[in-house]
Amino acid sequence: MEEDTHKIEDISEDDDDDVEKEEEQNWEDWTADGEGEEDDLDLLCLFCDFKFNSTSSLFDHCFSSHSFDFRSIKTSLKLDFYGCFKLINYVRSQVANNKCWSCGSTCESKQELQDHLHKPSGFEGGNLPWDNDMYLKPYMEEDNLLYSFDEDEDEEVDDDVAGRDIDDFDKMSIDDKTDLESYDYKNKAVNGESSDEKKSNNSSLNAVDRQIMIVNKDYFGSYSSFGIHKEMISDKVRTDAYRQAIVDNPSLVKGAVVLDVGCGTGILSLFAAQGGASVVNAVEASDKMAAVATQVAKDNGLLWNEASNGSTKQKRGVIKVINSMVEDVIESGQIKPQSVDVLVSEWMGYCLLYETMLSSVLVARDHWLKPGGAMLPDTATMFVAGFGKGATSIPFWENVYGFNMSSIGKELVKDAAHIPIVDVVDGNNLVTNTALLQAFDLTTMKPDEVDFTASVQLQQKSTNSTEVESTKCYGVVLWFETAFTSRFCKEAPTVLSTSPYTPPTHWSQTLLTLTEPISLSSKTLTSKSCSMVGSEVNPAVKIDARISIARGVEHRSIDISLEVTAIGSDGQKQKWPVQLFNMR
Ligand code: SAH
Repeated sequence: MEEDTHKIEDISEDDDDDVEKEEEQNWEDWTADGEGEEDDLDLLCLFCDFKFNSTSSLFDHCFSSHSFDFRSIKTSLKLDFYGCFKLINYVRSQVANNKCWSCGSTCESKQELQDHLHKPSGFEGGNLPWDNDMYLKPYMEEDNLLYSFDEDEDEEVDDDVAGRDIDDFDKMSIDDKTDLESYDYKNKAVNGESSDEKKSNNSSLNAVDRQIMIVNKDYFGSYSSFGIHKEMISDKVRTDAYRQAIVDNPSLVKGAVVLDVGCGTGILSLFAAQGGASVVNAVEASDKMAAVATQVAKDNGLLWNEASNGSTKQKRGVIKVINSMVEDVIESGQIKPQSVDVLVSEWMGYCLLYETMLSSVLVARDHWLKPGGAMLPDTATMFVAGFGKGATSIPFWENVYGFNMSSIGKELVKDAAHIPIVDVVDGNNLVTNTALLQAFDLTTMKPDEVDFTASVQLQQKSTNSTEVESTKCYGVVLWFETAFTSRFCKEAPTVLSTSPYTPPTHWSQTLLTLTEPISLSSKTLTSKSCSMVGSEVNPAVKIDARISIARGVEHRSIDISLEVTAIGSDGQKQKWPVQLFNMR
């Protein structure tokens, strides 16, 4: 990092500032309820019946008329998003009971409370009466202040970011704005509910919304650390596949309008710029990463409207960083509908679907991709195979410096019967054929197709050995491939594989362990056995596995169910109770 660090480009539109100034100047705009113009007024004062059309005018009013200085309380008590959220609900609940939010005194009337209100005191020791989860529940229905109080904060934060050195990024925290915005997103993209339905069903935050908010905070928070981006970029299998698809297919990318959904550091956008895209819209919800992507694009002379210095040929900047959840960019109108030639995104999670970022990519596709536009990648396929003892931790614990610790291995395998394990599996430890579980065409798939049930048949993997032998299948391993097919990548199609038979990636594989292993043999037993099919003495000739993957109740988690039936050589069947795995 150079000493004379570059300042972060203020990516907000100049126009926004003007609007903001105008709002502040129009301070007289507010009027008491019932005095007309109510249609525009939707932010109710915390202490009286005045309504406002901007958070900043509401807070100015609370300060001047009710001695309640939200901004300074927030700063001095270092209240985070939840702290502010709870404070607002707490104040509303106190005021409704004619109680002073600061000292707790009860007044005889609303008027008496108005006269009594005073500057806060006594909170310095950290004893905050609103620091209770009950205040996460909105006190007032349709309290628009809860949806917008952080806009007031945004203005301050943006100014702050504009003057920040890149070295300070580590100290920045993610902006909670994304969490509030996610309510709409969840209801539209994940629940499949329209925003109108949402209004009628969720006029105030319910438990699900709160949970989404918390999960999203963790989710985007995890993407705010450089470690995860380093891990992804260093995954050569992954990054090279994207690089090849973007840079080595000039007929697709040259002159194209590109949308990078979830740009992170901006690596894919940089590839797109390198590949000759005319515009790259790089959307990123994490404030920190959006600022990083901006700085990186700028440092490489690729930020929109920026010309590179120096005597070498001038490059026109093509990358526009948009700091928002992609779902919210739709409402902002920053990108014209159906204007994108190529949508690129690295959205894949463990077991392909964990974290369900795919839903966001599909929202973006449906809104911005031109008819016939390209998706990179354009297909995703999930595979399954049975694994043997070598893929479990049993062998490790059987011999620890010559001691037998196999009891630990057994316990771990038992626990693994309901928790998916993400680990690298060596292809040599697979004991069955590989079966295709589910294939997605990303250009056409519907958002709810991310939940699916599929059945596969697994048989003992053919070995060179001539001896009659059975192998034990301890569970099934899932993995995926995404492809940049010749449909769009005419010059250089490529496949990104996370298979156990190819070099490992940061996704590893996902293992679902059976409650008990099933013996498998490709040889037909000569004598009929009355033992259970799948036991050592009566190995199965195949396993029917029925696997469902669906988004879990907890936002961004997935539930996987596994139902196996062992089929004997005489057609006899042994079915095990369905196993449920939650990935969160
Ligand atoms: N494209 C980068 C980063 C991929 S990780 C790369 O290939 O290295 C996914 C990124 O998408 C994260 O930075 C995450 O914060 C962002 N993201 C996830 N969901 C998003 C959404 N709905 N809107 C905008 N950004 C999102």
